[in-house]
Amino acid sequence: MKVIDHINEAKDTLFSFEILPPLKGKSIQSIYNGIDPLMEFKPKFINVTYHREEYVYRERDKGLLEKVSIRKRPGTVGICAAIMNKYHVDAVPHLICGGFSREDTENALIDLQFLGIDNVLALRGDPIKTEAAFKPAIKGHNYAVELIEQIQAMNKGKYTMDEIHLEPTDFCVGAAGYPEKHFEAMNMDTDLQYLKQKVDMGADYIITQLFYDNNKYFDFVKRCRAVGINVPIIPGLKPISNLRHISFLPKFFHIDLPNELSSELLKCKTNDDVKQVGIEWGIQQTKELKAAGVPCIHYYTMSNSSEVKQIASELF
Ligand code: FAD
Repeated sequence: MKVIDHINEAKDTLFSFEILPPLKGKSIQSIYNGIDPLMEFKPKFINVTYHREEYVYRERDKGLLEKVSIRKRPGTVGICAAIMNKYHVDAVPHLICGGFSREDTENALIDLQFLGIDNVLALRGDPIKTEAAFKPAIKGHNYAVELIEQIQAMNKGKYTMDEIHLEPTDFCVGAAGYPEKHFEAMNMDTDLQYLKQKVDMGADYIITQLFYDNNKYFDFVKRCRAVGINVPIIPGLKPISNLRHISFLPKFFHIDLPNELSSELLKCKTNDDVKQVGIEWGIQQTKELKAAGVPCIHYYTMSNSSEVKQIASELF
């Protein structure tokens, strides 16, 4: 079933979450171990991230270095199929522009359709670590809006080949939104214009980047509505759970931690202290968002569901 239909049918705020594929060589059991504790909250959909290739240097004979391309976390599509099969919950694979030609994208979408997957989160993807700026693949997409255009074309039976009367797909498409602005955007206004282009192109709903200040989300929704973005905007939350997160999350996701939270975090001496603050903060954020009637709350588990479980136990 499509995410947008789950949202339209819901009588209360829905619960959903995102997982990462395991590192290459690890068992899918680690995925099940992360999902099992959250099933009691009846997630309507589970997102699975996509991780493109990275370049690493391997030492060879005589001190030579070889540059090797590896994908550390393959398996997105297989995990989605396994989730649908085992839990009978809709899985939402993330599909990115980076590393995909239009034909690669088309083939990936055909696989998803054959597997009975109705949903895709359409993203551009970040630049690979060794590159300063995002570079599309040859014959690939520059921006998520172009990927959405291709998915919507396939939904009308238009593939990259010239033949007509091809089987239309029927994907529900999500897009990413940034309450604190995408880090490359010139300003919030231009970022919102591009977000509107994604919606006008056929994104059915938006999931936000994680944030810790609900006012930023409320303000973002207001600004979206003011420019004519009228689709559901699902807030994304990530409980802070260790000392490393305190600097990693703002740096990696280009977000701020509000003063009230940072002053609590500054008192923390251990990972357990941070975890407790993170859970309490997550509960407060969730309470306020639910009271405001948001359509769904989407939790980023980053492969660790224990904090999300504690938050959800209070509120779902
Ligand atoms: P876009 O919408 O293409 O925007 C990228 C930038 O370009 C923005 O600054 C925007 O303002 C600007 N822009 C957009 N359109 C145009 C245009 N036509 N002309 C000029 N400028 C334009 N990354 C992964 O690699 N794998 C994942 O699984 C993954 N999951 C994610 C899930 C969520 C919910 C979110 C919020 C992000 C996720 N990301 C993931 C990260 C995402 O790929 C990066 O944030 C990426 O840098 C931008 O992706 P986007 O789809 O928002 O890009």
